[in-house]
Amino acid sequence: MVDLMEHAGANPGRGTYGMAMAASRTVFEARRDCAALLGVKDPRDLFFVSGCTEACNLMLKGLLQPGDRVVVSSMEHNAVTRPLHVLSGRGVRVDFVTADTAGLVDAEAFERAVAEAPTRAIVCQHASNVTGTIQPIGDLADIAHAAGALMLVDGAQGAGHLDVDVAALDVDAYACSGHKALLGPQGIGVLYLRSGLDAMQLVEGGTGASGADEPGQPLDRPERYEAGTPNTPGIAGLGAAARYQSAHGAGIRATERRLTVRLREALSAMDDVVLLGPAPHDESVPVVSFTSPRAEPDRIAFELDRRFGIAVRSGLHCAPWAHRTIGTLDTGALRIGIGHGTTDADIDALLAGLDEVLA
Ligand code: PLP
Repeated sequence: MVDLMEHAGANPGRGTYGMAMAASRTVFEARRDCAALLGVKDPRDLFFVSGCTEACNLMLKGLLQPGDRVVVSSMEHNAVTRPLHVLSGRGVRVDFVTADTAGLVDAEAFERAVAEAPTRAIVCQHASNVTGTIQPIGDLADIAHAAGALMLVDGAQGAGHLDVDVAALDVDAYACSGHKALLGPQGIGVLYLRSGLDAMQLVEGGTGASGADEPGQPLDRPERYEAGTPNTPGIAGLGAAARYQSAHGAGIRATERRLTVRLREALSAMDDVVLLGPAPHDESVPVVSFTSPRAEPDRIAFELDRRFGIAVRSGLHCAPWAHRTIGTLDTGALRIGIGHGTTDADIDALLAGLDEVLA
């Protein structure tokens, strides 16, 4: 990112002078490398957006029309539920399928819901940001396609934490943030849209391409969905992150997995800790949440930060529907995120801190 800003701080896709061409090359390479990481066959089907929130808005508002019906999991983040709320006011019917108390959705329940009425799309997260539960996206995609519906995925907690291959999952859209497990900077994300899907763009404006004879937004990909000057430094950072992930992702995921099992096991053995989500050895992404009758999540988070310098998050994690599903809407939960760079010593420090805070 620094290199780009020092040597290629020009607008990509516009001028043909050296700096602009270098910026364009950075964007081209980042798109190519993000596509390779996520199993996207044609990089032009991957668009740079500001984050998963914008990607979810584009995927939902771009594809759903008044009169459409969507079937949605009850574990979704506000990045999905709030655009759907707006769409429901515009005549889109939104039907929720409730997950179990570990946050896992039941593919058969989706199958039954889809059979009840014509359905335009199933919408589901790849993994929960509250419980770490991994959802059966491949099965849901089969159910959606058998009913002639689309499979739309919020991949904010999938990409990076899981080895994502959108072609193998056979999904129609996959939204993600750059700054979470992909290890990119904030303010950048990507949306994959299957080739040929005619989603309406959210924003119109300059793209650097075909200007004179077209009053409307060009329909070419990726230009259609990338109006205006892009976040080129963010794209450069996400491109570098994608290359790093392609080289080191398997090792990162193995360490995250080992530390997650270790933490879940330790928490489930503690008195007065109610572990949420999957059992210690079940597959999950490295998000671990719990409640305790000894202290409110806010208090635990505050004490861990002030006394031990440990950063964990309390509250509803922008996903009240998920908390309603798992029975923690009133209390929220304490959530620990394990990521690249988390070590056994960090888990030791967390457990020691918790011993004191919950004493
Ligand atoms: N979806 C899920 C499951 C998330 O965890 C998040 C962020 O926490 C989002 C969507 C929104 O991502 P962003 O804040 O990058 O737009």
